[in-house]
Amino acid sequence: MADFNDYKGVWVFCEQRQGKLMSTDFELVSEARKLADELGCEVTGLLLGDNVDGIAKELGGYGADKVMVCDSPLLKDYTTDAYAKVVCDMVNEYKPEVLLIGATNIGRDLGPRCAARLHTGLTADATHLDIDTAKYVLKMTRPAFGGHLMATIICPRFRPQMSTVRPGVMKKAPFDQAKADACQIVKPAFELAASDIKTEVLSVEKAAEKLVDLIGADVIVSVGRGISKDVNKGIELAEQLAAALGGGVVGASRAVTDAGWMSADHQVGQTGKTVHPKIYVALGISGAIQHTAGMQDSECIIAVNKNESAPIFGVADYGIVGDLFKVVPELIKQVEAAKAAE
Ligand code: FAD
Repeated sequence: MADFNDYKGVWVFCEQRQGKLMSTDFELVSEARKLADELGCEVTGLLLGDNVDGIAKELGGYGADKVMVCDSPLLKDYTTDAYAKVVCDMVNEYKPEVLLIGATNIGRDLGPRCAARLHTGLTADATHLDIDTAKYVLKMTRPAFGGHLMATIICPRFRPQMSTVRPGVMKKAPFDQAKADACQIVKPAFELAASDIKTEVLSVEKAAEKLVDLIGADVIVSVGRGISKDVNKGIELAEQLAAALGGGVVGASRAVTDAGWMSADHQVGQTGKTVHPKIYVALGISGAIQHTAGMQDSECIIAVNKNESAPIFGVADYGIVGDLFKVVPELIKQVEAAKAAE
């Protein structure tokens, strides 16, 4: 059991790829700020990479008091060995009470490895974080039992309290240039030798297919199994409606991605992406809890479903009962007409 008096501060592992910070970093730093204010401690970003000091200050604009930059050519590309060693060495040396990591592909690899080495627990894929102000412990909430209930997990006996956090769930604070300027950049000493790394990165290849950016989209039109009558037509209608509403993108329920009608990066929901666009249109989606878990915080939800008792209408701001193949062309016509009349 750790001596808790030694542990202080909320840390965020800030992921960079090819020298660029990820949007998850800003979300996590913003959330860490709220937690640190309740705990009465500092927020520290931990940034690993090669020549990355130039991007560190930006994290201050979202709430980091300090960024610890571990710079080395050996940290240029992510490798589990190198990153886990440096993160664990830093944690052992400086002892944060909380360590948050984005649940990206890299974070999902790094988090468990570090937690095991640090002999502490890890809540994977958390969707909500909170402080128990009576006991000063971190409450980490994530869906459990197939999304049918939310489990709140604590780590009462070990430190740091660690969690990987789902991208897109935490809201990014507005950027504050004065705070970015005031953010302290520290370059701690650390040891890392080529012999510590068992993996050799030969090259970094970008996925040939451009993945859809659901998390950053303001307008998402998602399709469900309701398009099964004519899948291509259904997707085409969704694309046209998304374009009419202003540069929107097309999402999907798991029924659609499981059927192979659209690729997995389009999936919204508990095992897909969590989104909160300004407008979310659900076409032929029943509204299972695993789907709504990923979109219910959208600013305006519009649902089209031919079954008037479909659960999706329970979370929708506007509901249209009808066949999507008839309703959507009419919606596109109306949106275009309204735009022309502006
Ligand atoms: P259905 O439930 O079959 O609904 C189709 C809807 O379309 C119906 O409501 C029907 O009335 C309507 N419809 C049919 N024809 C038309 C038409 N012509 N016009 C208008 N409406 C029409 N699901 C997700 O989406 N995302 C997830 O991340 C996810 N994760 C999961 C994780 C776990 C562990 C499990 C167990 C399940 C998960 N699911 C997820 C699956 C989820 O439970 C549902 O099965 C799925 O969301 C259903 O997809 P759907 O609404 O497209 O299909």
